[in-house]
Amino acid sequence: MRPEDILLPTPAGVCCKIGGFHIDPTRPVERALITHAHSDHARAGHGAVLATQQTLDLMRLRYGDNFAGTTQAIAYGESLTLGGVTVTFHPAGHVLGSAQIEVAANGLTIVASGDYKNVPDPTCAPFELVPCDVFITEATFALPVFRHGDPDAEIAKLLRSVALFPERAHLVGAYSLGKAQRLIALIRRAGYDAPIYLHGAMESITRYYESRGAALGELRLARGAAKPNLAGTVTVCPPSALNDLWTRRFPDPLAAFASGWMRVRARARQQGVALPLVISDHADWDGLTATIAATGAGEIWVTHGQEDALVHWCGTRGLKARPLDIVGYGDEEEPTGADTGGAEP
Ligand SMILES: [Zn+2]
Ligand SMILES: [Zn+2]
Repeated sequence: MRPEDILLPTPAGVCCKIGGFHIDPTRPVERALITHAHSDHARAGHGAVLATQQTLDLMRLRYGDNFAGTTQAIAYGESLTLGGVTVTFHPAGHVLGSAQIEVAANGLTIVASGDYKNVPDPTCAPFELVPCDVFITEATFALPVFRHGDPDAEIAKLLRSVALFPERAHLVGAYSLGKAQRLIALIRRAGYDAPIYLHGAMESITRYYESRGAALGELRLARGAAKPNLAGTVTVCPPSALNDLWTRRFPDPLAAFASGWMRVRARARQQGVALPLVISDHADWDGLTATIAATGAGEIWVTHGQEDALVHWCGTRGLKARPLDIVGYGDEEEPTGADTGGAEP
């Protein structure tokens, strides 16, 4: 049996014919297995959805109760037999509820990792290494220039700036699902205990994180706060809000942006970001290559991002590798990316 007999890459996502499902399909299908709730991986309109409880809950928050015909929750480490294959979900360390999906049949194991990071995150379960024959990896930051470094050092930079400019409001752009909550948890861990303000678009997801145990301290909505009272405060907002009229409600706003792309200083400048913070929910170059090697997989399939460099690296290591041309996976760390946060009046 060849790997393609188990999982067949198609432009709309990988398809398991013998199991009767797609993984993270980009168009509506009969049965979808979803790795995590980011909108490019988790779309509405499937007949049946199998995912972790948190992913299902987050999809419901985004799309409403009727986002799928039927839903079924699966826990980390739990296995199910679907047609001729066994599927098991494992933590991916990317955002709350994110999973790698292991698909096994006839002694062959393929792991579809979705998006992942192999560094600690106080708001989600840590990445679990799953030995496999074929590893499907993302490639968002798959260039040697991307080394994310220590997120706590970036938080310290933010808090130094807040202390230095008590008359200004710090606005931190962060993707609404995952990054915003991780950022707040990291700020709390650094000892900052003043209220943190939220853009309205991230309220429901952030409250959901709290209900699942994330310790985020006192949160307030920026909407309704008087302008002078926002001096010296930190507000977390969707990246798109940084260039919005919305910023006018803040005294002398200072724009920060938490993203792996902030490693590229020209990009930060171009986007008018005064305080770039290199904090990413994706593995960096070292994380990707170390993880690929550690899985023991002899064959690597590479999705969305900088496929070429990673495919080339695999070749130098004697690994068989191919890019998957899946159309529709976005990049939630881009200011113009997949954030459906929307505008706030
Ligand atoms: Zn994602
Ligand atoms: Zn992705």
